[in-house]
Amino acid sequence: MPNQTLLKTAISAALDHFRDQLAAFGDDIFSHAEVGFREERTAALVADQLRALGLTVEERLALTGVKARLRGARPGPTVAVLGELDGLPVPDHPSADPATGVVHACGHNAQLTHVVGVARALVEANATDQLAGDVVLMAVPAEEYVDLDWRVEQARAGRLEFLGGKAELLRLGCFDDVDMAILVHATGDAEDRQLSLRMSANGLVAKRARFIGRASHAGAAPERGINALNAATLALQAIHMQRETFRDRDHIRVHPILTRGGSVVNVVPADARLETFVRGASYDAIADAAAKVDRALRAGGLAVGATVEIETLPGYMPLIVDPSMGELFKRNALALVGDSGWAEAGPIAASTDAGDLSHVMPVLHPSHGGCSGTNHAADFFVTDPYVAYLQPAKAVAHTIVDLLADNATEARRVLQAFEPKLTRAEYLAYMRALASFVSFRA
Ligand SMILES: [Zn+2]
Ligand SMILES: [Zn+2]
Repeated sequence: MPNQTLLKTAISAALDHFRDQLAAFGDDIFSHAEVGFREERTAALVADQLRALGLTVEERLALTGVKARLRGARPGPTVAVLGELDGLPVPDHPSADPATGVVHACGHNAQLTHVVGVARALVEANATDQLAGDVVLMAVPAEEYVDLDWRVEQARAGRLEFLGGKAELLRLGCFDDVDMAILVHATGDAEDRQLSLRMSANGLVAKRARFIGRASHAGAAPERGINALNAATLALQAIHMQRETFRDRDHIRVHPILTRGGSVVNVVPADARLETFVRGASYDAIADAAAKVDRALRAGGLAVGATVEIETLPGYMPLIVDPSMGELFKRNALALVGDSGWAEAGPIAASTDAGDLSHVMPVLHPSHGGCSGTNHAADFFVTDPYVAYLQPAKAVAHTIVDLLADNATEARRVLQAFEPKLTRAEYLAYMRALASFVSFRA
């Protein structure tokens, strides 16, 4: 048997051997979900696991990120395996933290089992003896773009600049010594089977709008007030009336929520607030839809005479999966799950900050099954620990062998074929240019 095949067999055996420990680790993380940039307990557990392997561990990167490096026998490219640390608030999920409402309803706990599992299996199988280049293990904060009030506060205090984890890590230079990255995300969608690949995902910008009216007695003197809730209501309708102008191929998703609609019923609301994401498949499409949303927000204020403040926050870039890494992963996935366990499908309408990373380096972002329910919903659970925790770790570790064995011929080929859409400096400039705050007085 060729060396690489023997090595993959040894890696799989190591993962099978630690199966119960890895499942317990993944379940423990699931039961103690924490919101982004505040994943203290989760990060400490990942760091402990990596330290137990004798690795030097960096901690508190972008507040909670964890990073360790497994050195190959010879120099070569560095492949990072990423796991996202954060849960998200879904308070009606049965496993949600009763105090915070946070739960791993996006399955990020599984990603952390992949990081820890890959590290452990590579060490146990002495894989690095055969690798040219390093493997970086990283647990990254705050993939979910939520909890914005707290994050904006942190940004004002100088503890963050961007409100997503990978953007922050990019800003801080934490990816400067990484050449390519791999992350396997959970899906509850049965169509995606055990392992799957979709080559792209939407990007997004976030909008927060505040309508400022004038309070007055809602019964005795509404004519002396300016109803901010009416302005927000009209703005919502105006946003929905843009929908016929969105082109199918741009995959636009605009999904506003009302976060404040008044204080007490007998006072005309003077302060109403909306939040929305504007998602799309390309920056141009996002910019076009975002301009329409701004126009709609202004229209609501104009109609009733309220002032409108619109804050735009740079969100995530569209995801572009590297096709060469995708091919390598597919080969390894098929060897593990066969045709019936593998799926390839169209673009992801959701967004991920792995998209940001994919603009500066090759990124592989497949999905794994072993979950039921809908991501972000109260019915999402890991149902098959082998398929969710173990099998993706095998597929990732095997792909790393293909990339870095044989003097890293494949990794070098990936890097040669890759054309970054942006340099890190261009990326940061683009993100900073997106942020804005404007105020319109009716
Ligand atoms: Zn997720
Ligand atoms: Zn999610």
